[in-house]
Amino acid sequence: LNSSALKKTLSPVAVELVSGRPYWPIHNREPSTYAALDEDLACDVAVIGGGITGALAAYELTRKGFDTVLLEQNRFASGSTRASTALLSYEYDLLLSHLCGRIGERDAMRCYELSYQAIGRIERTLKDIEDRCAWAKKSSLRVARSESVLRTFEQEAAARNRTPMKVELLDRETLLRRFGISGLAALVSGRAYQIDPFSFTKSLIRCAATKGLRAYERSKATQLDLGDKGLKLKVGNGRKISARSAVFATGYESEKYLPRKVGILNTDYCFVSHPLRDLGRLGECHLVEHGSDYMYLSTFGNRVMAGLEATSFDSPKRRRIRMSRMCGQIEERVAQYLPHRNLAPEYAWAATFARSKDSLPYMGELPAWPRVIFLLGYGGNGIASSAMLAGLLADKLAGGRNRDVGLFRFDR
Ligand SMILES: Cc1cc2nc3c(=O)[nH]c(=O)nc-3n(C[C@H](O)[C@H](O)[C@H](O)COP(=O)(O)OP(=O)(O)OC[C@H]3O[C@@H](n4cnc5c(N)ncnc54)[C@H](O)[C@@H]3O)c2cc1C
Repeated sequence: LNSSALKKTLSPVAVELVSGRPYWPIHNREPSTYAALDEDLACDVAVIGGGITGALAAYELTRKGFDTVLLEQNRFASGSTRASTALLSYEYDLLLSHLCGRIGERDAMRCYELSYQAIGRIERTLKDIEDRCAWAKKSSLRVARSESVLRTFEQEAAARNRTPMKVELLDRETLLRRFGISGLAALVSGRAYQIDPFSFTKSLIRCAATKGLRAYERSKATQLDLGDKGLKLKVGNGRKISARSAVFATGYESEKYLPRKVGILNTDYCFVSHPLRDLGRLGECHLVEHGSDYMYLSTFGNRVMAGLEATSFDSPKRRRIRMSRMCGQIEERVAQYLPHRNLAPEYAWAATFARSKDSLPYMGELPAWPRVIFLLGYGGNGIASSAMLAGLLADKLAGGRNRDVGLFRFDR
């Protein structure tokens, strides 16, 4: 890929990642305080993309003393981050036992450990930024919806219980007694939380800005020049940034910038209910169904937040047509977990969702783009992955040799 290909892919054609009314931006409405870039400047690292990944990367880099600039083409947290359902989990979409079969036991174990540690990193960061961002402890439940999943759950429990990332395997009766939930069985793991991804992104940027980060909204990177004179980024209004390195934290939109597809793109439909009077024990957990399509739910305050992955990539037009039917399906599925089946959606949205072939995120450089690093928090545990990658990035740019980085490379 060369810089003219990049120029082509950064065309002004807008990508609608999210359709409908996601909860977070409405719940957290606040005026923007960030200007567009209006001067040429130089820095150590230019981070492109102001979602949760870019915010975490910019925060870690600034903390390590890098002179960092953050560019966002729209408003901060206006991409997939605002569509997230706020489950914070270290578990990838592929369970450890399955990931071992895909990439080998040693690497799979290490990927899980790094993600597990990333939750601790987020906990420490929240203290530093002095904002809880609706952080709350949860139990993470993976509920079996078909007999075929039971064997998988047994294998997973055996694999995980040889590590510090312990799980409990609950049978039908125990699941009902402990959580009031009916299902064939469930895998329960701790170290699971909820976090408001929208306010987390904004708080990270706010805090990093007090430590020297220069952050700009409405500043689209339109061209990358990797000439002999160093790395230069052109911004939409003609301003230029010279940097030693660039980080593309451009989310699912990165598929436009890469020479080949690395993500499997689908559409997720989500809703947030009106406040409910009684959530029962559901308020203590977040839950992912196994053995059917990919349905997940969490609670936020006294509301239920749930999503269902469609089996196709739907255009924005098709999403709008399907939205109410898909929300009706989710509603029925969620109601089975509630003590009173009185669920009424108040917010509904549909969004592009990307996962990788092995459920791991990507961190990598392209041979033709030296000094440019992509950070792609693909997968259902995208927030934990982004925190993990941001830590690896800061170590890498500080000159550390870290073999963990290779686990997430493009050509794995
Ligand atoms: C419906 C749904 C539910 C989800 N639920 C969860 C969940 O419960 N838990 C979880 O951990 N993860 C969840 N995820 C995944 C999580 O939301 C993503 O992993 C995460 O938001 C990705 O953040 P990001 O910063 O990489 O991408 P984004 O938030 O999309 O940010 C990328 C930013 O880059 C900007 N950009 C792109 N190109 C340019 C350019 N040329 N110049 C300047 N800026 C540019 C975009 O405008 C965008 O703001 C969910 C995802 C979806 C869609």
